[in-house]
Amino acid sequence: MELRIVGCHGGETPRHKTSAFVLDDRVAIDAGSLTSGLELKAQCALEAVFVSHAHLDHIRDLATIADNRVQNGCKPLLVVGAKPTLAMLKRHFFNDKLWPDFSVIPTPAKPTIRYVELKPEVPVEIAGYRVRAIEVSHTIDSFAFIIESLKGGAIAYSGDTGPTDRLWKVLSDVKDLRAMLMEVSFPNREQKIATVSGHHTPQTLAVDLKKLPISKELPFLLYHIKPSFQSEVERECAKLKGFDLTIVGIGDQFVL
Ligand SMILES: [Zn+2]
Ligand SMILES: [Zn+2]
Repeated sequence: MELRIVGCHGGETPRHKTSAFVLDDRVAIDAGSLTSGLELKAQCALEAVFVSHAHLDHIRDLATIADNRVQNGCKPLLVVGAKPTLAMLKRHFFNDKLWPDFSVIPTPAKPTIRYVELKPEVPVEIAGYRVRAIEVSHTIDSFAFIIESLKGGAIAYSGDTGPTDRLWKVLSDVKDLRAMLMEVSFPNREQKIATVSGHHTPQTLAVDLKKLPISKELPFLLYHIKPSFQSEVERECAKLKGFDLTIVGIGDQFVL
């Protein structure tokens, strides 16, 4: 599997982009920066977007990718997520007020986007992967994804979350897990805001990772750092010993 980091921050500046990742040029995980970070051809090549939750920094470019794709006659883009996420998108985003309802444009039979609902922890085959959504702990319904390639190997994506339990339990049974994209957002001194906003600091991250039996060997790719705290969080993560941690950057590519 080839993983490309399109955007990996918990905020935006000219040097920080909100969360969006692409697997094998076919599937995106979250859509925070899909159009600001991908050329039209790459946008059109996507078959599906796995959406972890409905916060704007993870969904915003669904608006602009839908607009670009309808103009280029691209295939319907599968917008994949759990029921609460899709309900928010339908009601508050593609609602013909904030943005057109691209699930019926240009026609209901061949729309620009097509919703695919994931039931919690039930694997579904999409675009060459078997994907499962696991509920995590955030301020709104938020889900991690376990994405298994039909050719072998799996990766996990945490979604926005603070300390959680179920995800680690489910992950401990995944075969051939090759890496995990894991959120960390605030420095330790901002623990209070991290806790109320459902995010990790390096200190809570270290406690949570230990819940996974293979946490010492598994490569963790850290994302979602708030731009205001980038260097501070990096320094604190560097002090966490006993884990294989990499803080990802825009444009990074990993062969997993
Ligand atoms: Zn969020
Ligand atoms: Zn976020």
